[in-house]
Amino acid sequence: MEELARAIQALEAHQDEDLAALVDLARIPSVSAEGFDPQGVVRSAERVAALLREVGLPVVEVLRHGDAPPYVFGEWRSSPDRPTVLLYAHHDVQPPGRDAAWRTPPFQPTLVEGRLFGRGVADDKAGVLVHVAALGAWLRSAGRLPVNVRVLVEGEEEVGSPHLASFLHSQVDRLRSEVICLTDTANLDAGVPSLTYRLRGLVGADVEVRTVDHPIHSGMWGGPAVDAPLVLARVLARLVDSRGRIAIPGLYDRVREPDAGERARIAALPFDEARFRAQAGIPPAMALGGEPDRGVYERLWCRPAIAVTALEARDLLGSTNQIVESARARVSLRIVPDMDPETSLAALCGFLETDPPWGAHVVVRPHVAAPAWVTEPSGPAFRAAERALAAAFGRPAVYIGCGGTIPFVGPFAAAFDGAPCLLLGLEDPECNAHGENEGLLLEDWRRLAEGEVRLLAELAPR
Ligand SMILES: [Zn+2]
Repeated sequence: MEELARAIQALEAHQDEDLAALVDLARIPSVSAEGFDPQGVVRSAERVAALLREVGLPVVEVLRHGDAPPYVFGEWRSSPDRPTVLLYAHHDVQPPGRDAAWRTPPFQPTLVEGRLFGRGVADDKAGVLVHVAALGAWLRSAGRLPVNVRVLVEGEEEVGSPHLASFLHSQVDRLRSEVICLTDTANLDAGVPSLTYRLRGLVGADVEVRTVDHPIHSGMWGGPAVDAPLVLARVLARLVDSRGRIAIPGLYDRVREPDAGERARIAALPFDEARFRAQAGIPPAMALGGEPDRGVYERLWCRPAIAVTALEARDLLGSTNQIVESARARVSLRIVPDMDPETSLAALCGFLETDPPWGAHVVVRPHVAAPAWVTEPSGPAFRAAERALAAAFGRPAVYIGCGGTIPFVGPFAAAFDGAPCLLLGLEDPECNAHGENEGLLLEDWRRLAEGEVRLLAELAPR
């Protein structure tokens, strides 16, 4: 206990340096998406490796695997009789989005009233720094860690981790651990420590429609000649019924219903629709989507959902009276246990291509498919996490689902014989991850770092 108190003291004494390191890391535009400078993820990998070396991990390497953005690996294993914990985060970020919508520059992290704004500050560079801060606190104060640790910081999470399966296959023995710990999920609310036990998976596709082979006068030809945006709109509109339920035949066949225990757990969580709307920015007059006979948490966590995440044809500015020849959209489908990613992807692509309106030319390009994940949060590792988070946040932890996707979790848990996965909440509902003006609530970030300092001690055998 004496040692733990000293580690927490060391964490607090180092707060300014850890924040400075986060700001530094978030200055690097490490966007993994196509069309962005790939040097960004190379530089962020090097910076993360340098941080892990600074805290004193004896083994730190930047790993290259095919043409994947670099992974950062670190290791401290000086207690052969103790378990090994794999700490995961990712160093790549989403594209910044629309520059004009940012109140502060996306890659110049700016502190405003307790929140650090910038692309990737919350998702997931704060997660990287939670691991760095917790390891540093122990190594500076005790010169050792309570458990053995392996660290993996991925560089392509935000594009669906296309190389992760083959990377895992090639490094499985090097990464093998008894417990997996991630800092890349949200808390139910600010200050409410949360453990995520279920994630949705993700499949997606780009769809392109062509109707005429070049733009033509909309007066001289319109009527007989049909424009591509109109055809695309019909293709997209039939993805859901008028209430928002997905209309792809058979898509719900494999959806696993939550059991009674899980239903009770979800029902016990506080939910305030007005607050939910305010956090998401959904106006009161707008109906909520999805299946109205199911609760909002169930819709978010346990049901598939479809979204059109990009749409392009012609800009309003500079447009003329013409029949537009082509239009494109990106469709994203979140899937849940036990939907198979490949089958779901094939169903989505097939549905988009089938029976094109007016027989228009429709081409669908599938994206990667990432599985959903769910676990039963029982056993000593979850109890350890509950104790650590409750002590750090000063209130009991809750179990929540997450509508987002982390492709890493399922395959790694399976490869390590069902090792428990502790997904520690870091973001709050107003952090706006993936949107413009992403902002990290520093208070929760600091609490979680203390939670991880405590967790490492809790996971050591007594
Ligand atoms: Zn993330």
